[in-house]
Amino acid sequence: MLNGKGILFDVTLCIGCGACYQACKEENDLPNTNKEYLKDHLSENTLTIVEQYGDKYARKLCMHCNEPSCVSVCPVGSFKKNEFGAVIYDKNKCIGCRYCMQACPHKVPRYEWGKTQPRVRKCNLCSKRLKEGKLTACAEACPTEATLFGDMEKLIEVANSRLKNNPTKYYQHIYGLEEAGGGHVLVISPMPFEQLGYTAMLPDKPMPELTMRAMEKIPSVVAAGGIFLTTMYWLTKRKNQIAREEKKQLFKSENRNNGNKYHEEL
Ligand code: SF4
Ligand code: SF4
Ligand code: SF4
Repeated sequence: MLNGKGILFDVTLCIGCGACYQACKEENDLPNTNKEYLKDHLSENTLTIVEQYGDKYARKLCMHCNEPSCVSVCPVGSFKKNEFGAVIYDKNKCIGCRYCMQACPHKVPRYEWGKTQPRVRKCNLCSKRLKEGKLTACAEACPTEATLFGDMEKLIEVANSRLKNNPTKYYQHIYGLEEAGGGHVLVISPMPFEQLGYTAMLPDKPMPELTMRAMEKIPSVVAAGGIFLTTMYWLTKRKNQIAREEKKQLFKSENRNNGNKYHEEL
């Protein structure tokens, strides 16, 4: 039994309207990035996409893995799984090493390259909305229920019954149930998933197990890089904090000398 919430995306029901794409942008306060939404790609400003393959459409977003490799490789614990099973990110911990981007089997996390204080961006399964008892914005906006939100247990039941009751309509596999250890986003489709751009040939084993094994083979000098980066991050942060404090003190004393009391409380 798989607890938590998730999404079932059914390719046979998707009409490519882009309502999920637009709703995600609005929910996450993201700018428009492409007039032709079907040609957009995942980026720091686009957390889900709808791609066209002939007369079929395929959604891509974070799969909210059961044992996520983004969580396991992050040296400072910026990623964690929450009570819904969503994998969420804490920008205050992130040191910008981007190991998560390398480790993700679905190539999901994106980086804010253009910002002075860049964050990693990806879908967070609308966790704020879930806490308020709402559906994800993409599921709420979908006019055909191609994107269905609900309890994982129920979604698996629905997917299995659609496959069983319509053997010629569906390719007999639920993508995301076992790939890389499975996750909280499932896809069913009339054709093999690699024909819709989903990452094929993923092992059923959770990727952290594989990344951990690979990391065991990394020389200690490389592993020490993570610790070095963390230390540098904290040192830089501390240095900036001290510099800010010093500036503040200097500013206060200058204003005091000028008899200006207005900035006393800064
Ligand atoms: S799909 Fe990638 S980013 Fe999303 S939870 Fe899995 S490993 Fe992390
Ligand atoms: S769950 Fe929320 S953040 Fe994720 S793709 Fe849907 S609308 Fe976007
Ligand atoms: S809103 Fe629904 S039908 Fe429209 S593109 Fe998204 S998943 Fe497909």
